[in-house]
Amino acid sequence: MRPFEHLTVQASGDAIAALAQSDGDTTRLIAGGTDLLPLLKDGLVTVDRLIDIKPARALRHLAFEDDGSLRIGALTTLAEIERSAEVGERLPILVQAVADAATPQLRAMATVGGNLLQRSRCWYYRGPFNCWLKGGETCYMRNGENKYAAIFEQGPCRSAHPSDLAPALVALDATVTLESASGARTLPVAELLAPPTADERIEYRLNPGELITEIRIPAQSENARGVYLKAMDRRSWAFALVSAAAQLTIEDGKVTQARLVLGGVANVPWRVTDAETLLQGQPLTPELAAKAAELAVQGATPLTHNRYKAPMARELARRAVLMAAGMWPGNG
Ligand SMILES: Cc1cc2nc3c(=O)[nH]c(=O)nc-3n(C[C@H](O)[C@H](O)[C@H](O)COP(=O)(O)OP(=O)(O)OC[C@H]3O[C@@H](n4cnc5c(N)ncnc54)[C@H](O)[C@@H]3O)c2cc1C
Repeated sequence: MRPFEHLTVQASGDAIAALAQSDGDTTRLIAGGTDLLPLLKDGLVTVDRLIDIKPARALRHLAFEDDGSLRIGALTTLAEIERSAEVGERLPILVQAVADAATPQLRAMATVGGNLLQRSRCWYYRGPFNCWLKGGETCYMRNGENKYAAIFEQGPCRSAHPSDLAPALVALDATVTLESASGARTLPVAELLAPPTADERIEYRLNPGELITEIRIPAQSENARGVYLKAMDRRSWAFALVSAAAQLTIEDGKVTQARLVLGGVANVPWRVTDAETLLQGQPLTPELAAKAAELAVQGATPLTHNRYKAPMARELARRAVLMAAGMWPGNG
């Protein structure tokens, strides 16, 4: 590994100032380091300067506001969300999303900001291949080992988004606050995460010098309930093969608001607006949930080894919708 400078900052303002004075291409923020350090060790990222933001305690908070919204500091760890009895009570979907992510040790280090910006787990990206995402010509997933690949086409890359938190945040309509020397902006998590393009071969969009300071989840209706389900090929230390996040509001026996988002099936969390529209305004029945789940996988174009993902996504979506409505046996 080549030498680099390691700068520790105590406050977000210091991190922003340091970013503004750095070369954006060879400077990185480091939080828990659970994704960045392996990338550095494997030579997938090279830096001249690392800005360690972990001591910036003001970025580590998790609290509901009086208006019912939840503010999550970017340095809040997945374990802190998992342990929060209040989040478990008021937004169980969030706790479910982090509870099966990685391992307890990783969750103790992994931050929310880093989780959203973690890079693809595609083995062609992580391995010694000059794949498209790394600047090459070809996405080797397409004709290679594609068991874990996306089943929806969003561009040249076929890697599936690895975050468990992201689909739940999109289902909750969460926003992210970004700060830089030129000011602050807020955008939906669903816009922060974007499929890689020829010009931007990365799964998120940050402007140069930007720091994620906070994630905010708007107040949910008191009749809203959410569920996150994750299918893994082993019980722990496994990324989602497929996941489903459903957030439903049911009033007077009808679905008044629905969000359904799949993970592990596209470059970024895959929001299924057709299914949401179908559910809205209707009394939820098992048949309607099945139809919504069918819509959730409409348009999927699986590859040779990941055909299993379409029926898996359909079934997880069906169950998540029924569970969110309290209509799944044992989850009423
Ligand atoms: C073995 C293993 C299994 C895993 N399994 C899962 C899983 O099942 N589900 C899941 O969701 N994740 C999983 N992960 C990923 C893990 O959750 C992420 O690595 C972690 O959340 C990243 O957070 P971090 O704080 O360590 O980020 P870092 O590694 O410190 O940073 C990651 C990226 O985010 C940037 N960054 C960090 N914080 C900020 C900020 N505030 N503002 C701007 N940029 C920032 C960094 O510059 C870097 O580019 C797994 C990881 C490992 C190693």
